[in-house]
Amino acid sequence: MEQPISVTRSNFNDWMVPVFAPANFIPVRGEGSRIWDQENKEYIDFAGGIAVNALGHAHPVAVNALTEQAIKLWHVGNGYSNEPVLRLAKKLTENTFADKVFFCNSGAEANEAALKLARKVGLDSGVAGKSGIVAFNNAFHGRTLFTVSAGGQPKYSQDFAPLPNGISHVAYNDLEAAKAVINEQTCAVIVEPIQGEGGVIPADIEFLKGLRALCDEFGALLIFDEVQTGVGRTGALYAYMNYGVTPDVLTTAKALGGGFPVGAMLTTDKFAPHFSVGTHGTTYGGNPLASAVAGAVFEFINTPEVLEGVKHRHQYFLDALNTLNAEYQVFDEIRGQGLLIGCVLKAEYAGKAKDITTWAGEEGLLALIAGPNVVRFTPSLIIPEQDIDEGIARLKRALAKLAK
Ligand SMILES: *Cc1c(COP(=O)(O)O)cnc(C)c1O
Repeated sequence: MEQPISVTRSNFNDWMVPVFAPANFIPVRGEGSRIWDQENKEYIDFAGGIAVNALGHAHPVAVNALTEQAIKLWHVGNGYSNEPVLRLAKKLTENTFADKVFFCNSGAEANEAALKLARKVGLDSGVAGKSGIVAFNNAFHGRTLFTVSAGGQPKYSQDFAPLPNGISHVAYNDLEAAKAVINEQTCAVIVEPIQGEGGVIPADIEFLKGLRALCDEFGALLIFDEVQTGVGRTGALYAYMNYGVTPDVLTTAKALGGGFPVGAMLTTDKFAPHFSVGTHGTTYGGNPLASAVAGAVFEFINTPEVLEGVKHRHQYFLDALNTLNAEYQVFDEIRGQGLLIGCVLKAEYAGKAKDITTWAGEEGLLALIAGPNVVRFTPSLIIPEQDIDEGIARLKRALAKLAK
C-alpha cells in the first residue's frame, strides 16, 4: 500500500482557509478521555471536541453502531425513509416534550430550521408582520447568516451585512428588557438555557419562566438552543428538564452524535405541520449512518447511571478546581452545570484565558475558552476520576505559569 502523505501543523497555514488558529500539535488517535499527537505525546481531554465527544474517543458503543451501519447503508436521500432515523426519532420524542423531529447535520442548521419554522408559523397566524425574533446579547446560535444574526456577538455578524432583519437583542437574564421588546409581532424568542460560548452563564429560572409566560401571552414560539447543553451535558437529558420550563422548539446537536455530525430540531404536533412538504429540507439530514450512531449514543447516555454520573463528576471537578484556586487565586467564580464548567478569571488576569489553554496544551491538557476571560471544560460525560485528577494536575502546572 502507498504511504500516506506526510503532513505537519505548518501545512494548515499552507492550505487551509485561515478561519481557525489550531494548536501547534496534531492529534492523531484517541481513547476514552486521552488523545495522542503526531509525536505520541499524551493529552487529557477536558475539551471533548467542544462538548461533542460525550462518550470520549473510540467508545465501543459508538464504534460498533458506526461499523455495523457502515457495511449496511450510508445514505439514500430523503425520498426514502430509513430504519435508524425512525428509531432515533422514537427515542427523542418518547424522552422529551416533543412529538416531531427534523434532522440535519449541525447546530447551526438545527437553529436555522427553528427560526424558519417560527417565521412560517408567524406568517400562517395571519397576524400582520408577525416575524419578529427576540434574542440575547452574547448568545451563540451558529454561523449561517440567519444564526449569526440571531447570535448576540456582533463580531461574528457585522462583516456580512446586510443581515436578515427583524431580530432584536436584549440583555440575557433581564426579563424586564425582554418584556419591553416581546409583542404581537414577535414570532419567536430564542435562548440558550446556559450561554455556552458566551461565557458559561446559566439562565435564572425566573427569567426562563418569564419568557415562557410572555411567549404564551403573545403567541410566540419559545426556542431553546440546547446544542451545547443537550444530551446529558448538564446532568439532565436536556437542560430544560432542570429548569422545569418547556419550550415549543428545542435544538440539539454536538453531543447527539458523540462525534459524528448530526443535529435535530424538536417540536410539537401543534407547530410541526407548518413545515409542510417542500417548505424546508436537507440532503444529508437524517441519513442512516448518522442516525445509527446518534441512536446508540443517545441510548447509552439516557440512563440514570450516566446522568447521575455527570452530576457526581460536576461536584468532583468543582472540588478539585476550588482546591486549585485556593492555592493560585486566579478565578473569581467557577460556574455551570454538570460537565459544562466555566472558570471566570479575576480582573488582574483579564484576557488570559487563551494563554492558559495554550500552556495547558504544553502540559498535556486540552481545555477551551468561552470568551477572553473564561476557561471552559466540557469533557466526556463518562470521564474516569483518575483522568480528572491527572488533568487537574496538568492544569495546576499551567496556572503556575500564569501566576509567575
Ligand atoms: C456550537 C453551538 C451552535 C452551533 O453548532 P454547529 O454544529 O457548530 O453549527 C449553536 N448553538 C450553540 C448553543 C452552540 O453551542
